Amino acid sequence: MLVSAKDMLQKARDGKYAVGQFNINNLEWTKAILLTAQENNSPVILGVSEGAGKYMAGYRTVVGMVNGMLEELKITVPVALHLDHGSYEGAKECVAAGFSSIMFDGSHYPIEENVEKTKELVALANEKGLSIEAEVGSIGGEEDGVIGAGEVADPNECKRIADLGVTMLAAGIGNIHGKYPANWKGLNFDVLAEIQKLTAGMPLVLHGGTGIPADMIKKAISLGVSKINVNTECQLAFAEATRKYIEAGKDLEGKGFDPRKLLAPGFEAIKATVKVKMELFGSIGKA
Ligand SMILES: [Zn+2]
Repeated sequence: MLVSAKDMLQKARDGKYAVGQFNINNLEWTKAILLTAQENNSPVILGVSEGAGKYMAGYRTVVGMVNGMLEELKITVPVALHLDHGSYEGAKECVAAGFSSIMFDGSHYPIEENVEKTKELVALANEKGLSIEAEVGSIGGEEDGVIGAGEVADPNECKRIADLGVTMLAAGIGNIHGKYPANWKGLNFDVLAEIQKLTAGMPLVLHGGTGIPADMIKKAISLGVSKINVNTECQLAFAEATRKYIEAGKDLEGKGFDPRKLLAPGFEAIKATVKVKMELFGSIGKA
């Protein structure tokens, strides 16, 4: 059964580790992530962007697929199904479709409007027993077509949003979605420490987990980051493994064209990537 992310994140915050949010795109992605979590006895959050939800035919299809897998793959570790960077409307749709967690990304609105909309969705999430993530200070890189510039959030605005009763808070601290440029300045730990101080124990979320050096990840966890989002890294691993299979001409040998064979190396590559991240985040054995 899907669970809210609340308990797993509070345990992570208290235990000084982080739970990975791995975004899903299709059946292979979902199965690879769920099996890896189960094999490593780790809690996990499946992230679904609005674009990926649309790609998978809609939120109800996603909920049906994930619930079916939890049962048929005998997944017993805590799993949350979470809308990633949801719009106001998208968040409501996911609540109705059976997601166990939502993110409302109001970071592109003026702060007053972000506060108002977040407040409304917090009430809705509470009523249904779901967890809710809010965002302050847009995160750089590309979020489903929206380009941001690696902003650093205002800690006082973070406090205002945290005080609305959200479960977890994403704040821009110089992190970026996608690949990091060579001249990236790194995470702003002074601001992260200030946000942690003002939001008193709120589990914090680090977006753009692909390519942040391990020592920065560990330091961020020590400063209250309890959820780390990984997306691009699984995509790169999947693409590389699939390319190697094709370039080696394996699709031309025997039944190598069978999609169950063609997609197998990519599937294994996602599993390996997720495991490395769970080790780095410290969530192994914490289910
Ligand atoms: Zn993000």
